[in-house]
Amino acid sequence: MSWERQINIKTPAQIKTMREAGRINAEVLARVKELLQPGVTTADLNAAAEEVLKSHGCVSPFKGYGHPPFPASITVCINDEMVHGIPHPKRKLKGGEIVSIDCGTILDGFVADSAFTAGIGEISQQAEILLKVTEGALFAGIEKMRKGNRVGDISAAIQTYVEGHGLQVTREYTGHGVGRKMHEGPQVPNVGSSGSGIPLRPGMTIALEPMVLAGTHETRVLPDHWTVVSADGSLTAHFEHTIAVTEGDPLILTLP
Ligand code: MG
Ligand code: MG
Repeated sequence: MSWERQINIKTPAQIKTMREAGRINAEVLARVKELLQPGVTTADLNAAAEEVLKSHGCVSPFKGYGHPPFPASITVCINDEMVHGIPHPKRKLKGGEIVSIDCGTILDGFVADSAFTAGIGEISQQAEILLKVTEGALFAGIEKMRKGNRVGDISAAIQTYVEGHGLQVTREYTGHGVGRKMHEGPQVPNVGSSGSGIPLRPGMTIALEPMVLAGTHETRVLPDHWTVVSADGSLTAHFEHTIAVTEGDPLILTLP
């Protein structure tokens, strides 16, 4: 069965474990955020993330994932790089850039997955707006993660929010269920129609991750087989949380 169809409902104890994984993941991201300054290399960021993970006896599901195996524990994307950027010891951050950091944490066999984008020093007004809209789209999607709603309600909320601000959201890359594996069902596209798709049930745990582009929504993959960039070179941003559907309000598992 392909991962998109494998939906695993979690028990309260499993959600508690994922919340702990999410807390550690938030600590990793906070540590990396502290280091976001001109002159720091993207490999330095990865090393700092690995230090925090190691201090908790955890690893990232990113390392060794896929073909060719992803070589690092976090992904680092600068400006037009949208997702899956590979940290590099020669790539130094510069003032005015925007940087997206994505990390996963495995604790006791369960994964938490979260990402953010931030500026290095002063950034353009266009970049500021892009960051605000992308984070806003994530929370517009989270608000729809309620028992009885459908996957399409989440997708539509994200798309409507982004396009209402005159920006574009990716078609090819989606949110996903998460649990014992980094990618489970349901797949949650960042575009769609409300009322469509499968109903949400308590115990579903989903990583929502709008990826927003200032220009075209089209993307391409660089020859390193991993880094996804906007097709027109425009700026992109990415925010992600892992969230549980409950009997009541959505429960964000990757907050500090
Ligand atoms: Mg992620
Ligand atoms: Mg994800």
